[in-house]
Amino acid sequence: MPELPEAETIARGLRRTVVGERIRHTDVVHADVLREKARSFRASLRGRRIEAVERRGKNVVLRLDRARVLLVNLGMTGRLLPFGTPPPSTDRPTHPALRFLFESGGLLVFDDQRRFGAVECLEEAAWAERSARLGPEPLSRSFTARRLASDLVRSRSPIRSWLLDQRRIAGVGNIYANEALHLAGVHPQRAAADVEPAEAVRLHRALRRVLRAAIDDGGTTIRDYRNAEGRSGAYARRLRVYGRAGEPCDACGTGIERVVFGNRSAFFCPECQPKGG
Ligand SMILES: [Zn+2]
Repeated sequence: MPELPEAETIARGLRRTVVGERIRHTDVVHADVLREKARSFRASLRGRRIEAVERRGKNVVLRLDRARVLLVNLGMTGRLLPFGTPPPSTDRPTHPALRFLFESGGLLVFDDQRRFGAVECLEEAAWAERSARLGPEPLSRSFTARRLASDLVRSRSPIRSWLLDQRRIAGVGNIYANEALHLAGVHPQRAAADVEPAEAVRLHRALRRVLRAAIDDGGTTIRDYRNAEGRSGAYARRLRVYGRAGEPCDACGTGIERVVFGNRSAFFCPECQPKGG
C-alpha cells in the first residue's frame, strides 16, 4: 500500500512529465473513484493546465490553474501513469479508472485494480482546509523531536496506531511505522504517552531515516511511478521487520514476531523492542 515514499516517488516522476500539460477531456471509466458526479468532475477539469505536482501525506496533489487542485489518494493499488502518446495495446494500463487526455496528445491514466483510491477536483481553499487537518510532514523542518515528544504524551493509543493516524503525523503507514519502531527500539504496542523523551528522540530520527532511505530507493511496493502494483521497489530488500515474522533480527538474531492489533499486523523484535512494564 502506497505510503509517503511511494507517493513522493510518483509525484517526482509526474513533475518531470505532466507539468505544463492542459487537460482537453477526462474519460471516466469507473466513477466509483470519484467523490462527485462524473459530469461535474469532467466539466471542472476541462481546459485546466497542470501547474505543479506536490505531495501531502500519502496524497499526490496536482495544482491546476484557476485555483483548482486535483487530489489523488492512491488507496491500495492506485497508480498514475503518464504517456506522451496513447500507448500501444501491449503497454496499456490494465485497470484504468480515469484517463486525462491532454491537448498535446499525451495522457495521464489513473489505474486502480482494487479501486480503494479516490480522485477529487477541489477549490484551492477547500484543499488548504483539508490539508490543515492532517498532521505534520515527518520530513519537514517543523516536525521536531520536541514536537513529537509533546504530541505523544497526550495519547494512550499504542504507538504503532498513533503513527498510522494521519491527523497526528502525515504519510506514515504500516510498513514504515514498523520499520521506524524497530530502528528506535520501541515496542509497537507501547502506549504513546509512555514513550520516554529519549525514545521519542530516537523515534523521530528513525522515522526520518527510514522515510528518506525509502524515497532514495523509490519506495517498497513500487520502484517508480510506472511500475505495476506488487512489484517490489528497492527498499523491499532493506526491510528490518515488516513481513519478516520468524526470520532472525538483523541486529541481534532473535526471531521476529508478529502480533495483530488495530486490524493490522505489527512486526517487532522482542529483544530489541522490549514491551516494558
Ligand atoms: Zn533484535
